[in-house]
Amino acid sequence: MKSGRRYLQDLIDFIFPPSCPLCNAHVETHGELCVDCWASFNWIDGAKCIHCGFPFASSFDMGPNMMCPTCASGKCELDLIRSACVYDDASRAAMLPYKHAGHIQYARFMSRAMIWALRDVDIEPDIVMPVPLARRRLFQRGYNQATLLARPIAHVFGVKMDLDSVSREYRENMGHKTSAQRARNIRNVFTVCKPDKIQGKKILLVDDVMTTGATFNELRRVLVDAGAVAVYGVTFCRVAHSV
Ligand SMILES: [Zn+2]
Ligand SMILES: [Zn+2]
Repeated sequence: MKSGRRYLQDLIDFIFPPSCPLCNAHVETHGELCVDCWASFNWIDGAKCIHCGFPFASSFDMGPNMMCPTCASGKCELDLIRSACVYDDASRAAMLPYKHAGHIQYARFMSRAMIWALRDVDIEPDIVMPVPLARRRLFQRGYNQATLLARPIAHVFGVKMDLDSVSREYRENMGHKTSAQRARNIRNVFTVCKPDKIQGKKILLVDDVMTTGATFNELRRVLVDAGAVAVYGVTFCRVAHSV
C-alpha cells in the first residue's frame, strides 16, 4: 500500500507532470534535467587539480594528485575548491536566467550537481555560507542565487547556513574586467559583523560561478582574520581556460 506522502507525490506528478527545467521535456523527477540538456553541459568529471578542481584536458591525466600551476605556486588561497561544470555557452544559457530573470527552479539541478562535485573530497565544514550579496542588490533581485544553491548543500553536510555573519558593500558591476581589476574592485567589500560565529570554524563558501577566484579570496581573507580555521569553496560553474 502506498504511503500518504507517496500518494500525494503521485497526485502532484499527475497534475503537474515533471518536466526538464530547461526545455520542458518529460523527466521522471521534478527539477531534474532531461538527458539531452544534461549532456549539453561540460561537467568536470575527468582529470582535475586536486586542490582547486581546475579541469585538465584528458591528455594531461597524470594521476590523482596533480595540481594546476596556480595551486602549485601557492596562489590559490582557499583550502579546497570544487565546481560542477565549466562556464561555457550551455552553463551561461542556464546561469543568466537563473541569476537575472527569476528562474529559481534551476537551483535544484545546480545544487545537486554541486553536491556531486564534492563527492570525492574529505571536508567537514561547520558552516555553509552563500557568498553574500549587497543589500541593495538583494533588494533589486529579490533573492540571493547563492543562498538557493547553499541550502541543499548545508542539508547534505548536516550543518546550518550562515546568512548574517558577513555583510557586503554595494559596488558597481565588475563586468568583463581583468583579474587585477576584479581583485581591486572586490577589495574590502566584505565585513564580518558577527566574528563570534566565525571564530574556530571550518567554512564552505557557495557561489554560482567562479571567474578569477577574487571574490572567494577576498571573503576568505576577512573570515581568516575573524578566526576561521579553514575555508573551502564550491560553485556550479567556473571559468576554465585550458592549461
Ligand atoms: Zn531538457
Ligand atoms: Zn588548482
